[in-house]
Amino acid sequence: MTSPLALLGGPPTVTQTTPHFTWPPLDDQSEAAVMSQLRRSISIYDRSGVVERLEEELCEYHGVTHAVLTSSGTAALHSMYAACGLGPGDEVIVPAYTFFATVTPLLHLGATPVLADCDESGNLGSKDVAQRITERTKAVVVSHMWGVPAAMQALKAITDEHDLMLLEDASHAHGASIDGQRVGTFGWAAAFSMNGPKPLSAGEGGFVLTDDDEVYYRVLLHGQYNKRCRSELPRGHNLYDYAVTGMGLKFRIHPLAAAIALDQLGRLDHYLTERATTAAYLSERLSELPGVIAPELPLGVRASWYGLPLQYATNELDRLPVERFYKALQAEGCREVDRPGSTCPLNLLPLFQRPEPLFPEYSDKVSYSPGDFPNAEAIHHNTLKLPVWHGKEDMPLVDRYIDAFRKVIENYCDLLG
Ligand SMILES: *Cc1c(COP(=O)(O)O)cnc(C)c1O
Repeated sequence: MTSPLALLGGPPTVTQTTPHFTWPPLDDQSEAAVMSQLRRSISIYDRSGVVERLEEELCEYHGVTHAVLTSSGTAALHSMYAACGLGPGDEVIVPAYTFFATVTPLLHLGATPVLADCDESGNLGSKDVAQRITERTKAVVVSHMWGVPAAMQALKAITDEHDLMLLEDASHAHGASIDGQRVGTFGWAAAFSMNGPKPLSAGEGGFVLTDDDEVYYRVLLHGQYNKRCRSELPRGHNLYDYAVTGMGLKFRIHPLAAAIALDQLGRLDHYLTERATTAAYLSERLSELPGVIAPELPLGVRASWYGLPLQYATNELDRLPVERFYKALQAEGCREVDRPGSTCPLNLLPLFQRPEPLFPEYSDKVSYSPGDFPNAEAIHHNTLKLPVWHGKEDMPLVDRYIDAFRKVIENYCDLLG
């Protein structure tokens, strides 16, 4: 008998030919927002217009004092680290499992990133952090992978105990919260990306949040020189003399990008509510099947669901390799099932194994190897990521994806050997 699996010649389950998932959702309202900004101004040198409005709304949304928009999340992280005074001689504990831009700006500042393993959720684990603290440790950076908040209470207990700065890369997790407290407000400062697929998108952009006035001024001096520094730093500030040049980097956001993000921010909570419904539905239906484990949120935790990270359980399917399982899903037409590639444990990347051709001064400071972070590597290897759709009109497609998982799992024996 021939197998019905598409990988073995059967018909695919998902036949929709149009894109399965697009983000951000852009409509007439977004178009009008961009057109009106286009007519008003496409260069903003100070904190005015759409830059001021978006920063104010970000402050209000998060309940913080300061927001600074940047050209990217990478730029936001760079400015945040510089503003927090991280540099040569400082060790900064960072997640081994994150997107590399959480960490790479530290290499440009001379600070030493110290990678730490994740817990079973895939986020930075407090146990491994505690083991990596030395007298040189100055800060701990946490990211919230795929929009699921890290265990902030445990991490904050450690950073408080050791008098370390807690910093967040919340690029996956706009609007996520723990007991009502929004991600990005747990530490000394936070950086966010607003790159294309991120929960809050500007196309390209980012921002820094902080309640600390000095961090705010230094973020401005780092990447927003001249006009903005001259108007925002108090005249009597000891660094006011440097307002014209700042530190000479220019990380300003494009006003058209700010207009897109401002339009999106007004709908973020609505999207997140719809995503939560889809994520719960997908998790419930997929959890009925052997071979895949859906993430479980602790009580009081709201995720942004940048993606739904499923864990493949090879032992439940007679050790069928995840690669083969993934190929079978793709053959069924699940184009949006993803095994994340560039977002991987950093010890698997040449930059963190042999940085010296690009960063000679790091030859004796950063040299990681495969195998260094067993939790991160196992989780990464077994992650199958799904998009989290956000509308009723997507539900038939969601059901087809579930059908495809069921079909592959019910017929997995045909894929063995
Ligand atoms: C996207 C992302 C970044 C980088 O942001 P860009 O806007 O692409 O520069 C940094 N950290 C994490 C966790 C990200 O997902």
